[in-house]
Amino acid sequence: MGEWALPEINLEKCNRCGACIEVCPTSAVEMGPRGPFFVRPRVCTFCTECEPVCLQGAITCAFGVVWEEESERGT
Ligand code: SF4
Ligand code: SF4
Repeated sequence: MGEWALPEINLEKCNRCGACIEVCPTSAVEMGPRGPFFVRPRVCTFCTECEPVCLQGAITCAFGVVWEEESERGT
C-alpha cells in the first residue's frame, strides 16, 4: 500500500497528547511542531491501533476497519 492509505490525522482536533505515538508499534509517527506526523510512513502496518487511542477523534483510518460506537459500554 502507498502513503495514500495512511491514517489521517486532523491537526485541528489534535491536542498533542502523544497517545498515538506511544501506541504505534512501528514508530511510524512522531511529534512535530504542529502535531503528530508520519516520519516513517513506509513502516506503518495499518494495524489501526492509533485510531481508538485518540480521545480527540483526530485519527481516521480510511483503509477498512470501521469502529462502532461504544455507546453501550459500561452498562
Ligand atoms: S496504523 Fe498502526 S502502524 Fe500505522 S501509524 Fe497507526 S499505530 Fe502506527
Ligand atoms: S492521540 Fe490524537 S490527540 Fe493525541 S497526539 Fe495523537 S492525534 Fe493528537
